Amino acid sequence: MRFRRLKLSGFKSFVEPADLRIEPGLTGIVGPNGCGKSNLLEAIRWVMGEGSPKSLRGGGMEDVIFAGTATRPAREFAEVSLLIERDDGGDDDVAGESEVTRRIERGAGSAYRVDGRDVRQKDVALLFADAATGAHSPALVSQGRIGAVIAAKPVERRHMLEEAAGISGLHARRKDAEQKLRAAEANLEKLDELMAEQE
Ligand code: ATP
Repeated sequence: MRFRRLKLSGFKSFVEPADLRIEPGLTGIVGPNGCGKSNLLEAIRWVMGEGSPKSLRGGGMEDVIFAGTATRPAREFAEVSLLIERDDGGDDDVAGESEVTRRIERGAGSAYRVDGRDVRQKDVALLFADAATGAHSPALVSQGRIGAVIAAKPVERRHMLEEAAGISGLHARRKDAEQKLRAAEANLEKLDELMAEQE
């Protein structure tokens, strides 16, 4: 999977719509202090389903919406779209482009779309996890991240390796399957009880 384009509107300091091309290879963001470099990386993590406002340096998720300045009023929503190029993963996975969008409105929470279709946060998280990336991907190197990797505990390093290997999506699916299995077992027990009552 490759990131091709990032579009932002009303996200943190990016109050005006911005459309950025992401070229192949390693991308670095440079600029003076406070110009919004970290906000761009956070926009990528946010559209990939980041659920923790704290890891986006906010108190609540609505803090990602442009909060206004002395001369500009605050915005009511923030929207980020990421255009991705999918590799041919075999089976049903066909190569092509997809646009993933996340939008948040004050008082209404977040909504996700993939190619214009409404989807759940979980679908978006799985889409990226299967491609060995995601909101916590080691491919996104923010300030202080290198130090954090060096200081990480073995279990944290294992999570990073699992994410890089693309198996964190499998863990999520396994949890889902286990929940479904437990529900089916509970239903079977109920059915046994009902049948015993009938006999
Ligand atoms: P540095 O090099 O100092 O780390 P940076 O280029 O990474 O800076 P960011 O931290 O991305 O900059 O951007 C900080 C700017 O974003 C600040 O001016 C801050 O006021 C602004 N900002 C953050 N959240 C919002 C928001 N919700 N509304 C408006 N502006 C915001």
